[in-house]
Parts: sequence; C-alpha cells; structure tokens
Amino acid sequence: MKGKRCRCGFVTRASKPRCPRCGKVTSDAEWKDTGVVLSSTRLKIPPEGFKASMALVLVEVDGQGPKVTCWSEDDLTAGDGVAIVETGTGTYICDKQKPKAP
Ligand SMILES: [Zn+2]
Repeated sequence: MKGKRCRCGFVTRASKPRCPRCGKVTSDAEWKDTGVVLSSTRLKIPPEGFKASMALVLVEVDGQGPKVTCWSEDDLTAGDGVAIVETGTGTYICDKQKPKAP
C-alpha cells in the first residue's frame, strides 16, 4: 500500500504533495498490506449482491501507516490482525489473518 508521509507524523493514502497538518512537503511512503483492527461494526442488512452481512472495519495499517476503512465478511474485534486487499475502486476488503504456526 502506497501513500505519503510527513516528518510531523501525518500519513495518508491520498497523493498530497504537502501536509494538510503542517504544510511541509510530504515524501512517498509504502506499507505492508496488513494491519490491526481498531473498530468494527456489522451491518444487519447486507448490501445488495452480498451473501453474508458485512462488517465495516477501521484498520490501522502496520508500520505506522494510515487508518483505512475496510469491508469484511469476518467477525473481527479490536486488536485482530488483518490482511488488506485494495479492490481498485477506492475501497478495501480485509480478512482475518490466520494465527502463525508455533
Ligand atoms: Zn506535517
């Protein structure tokens, strides 16, 4: 996942040449497509075309990345690790990461 980072700590997925927080020039940044769930809510009425009810999930991208809103069919709680997939239409889907083998 690519975006912009400022020395003040601001990060964004948007291609902003200047930081909206402090005005300094931003630099290119890249993060892994994984993150940690901050918050989640389940929609009881799924969007048309979806089988399961969908959750709307706020995810902080690993490596001090931006916060992105994802759709998920998984039951997620705060602190869960997720893999993030960009759909190409400006939306994201996340799936719960399987626990690592011991
Ligand atoms: Zn800044």
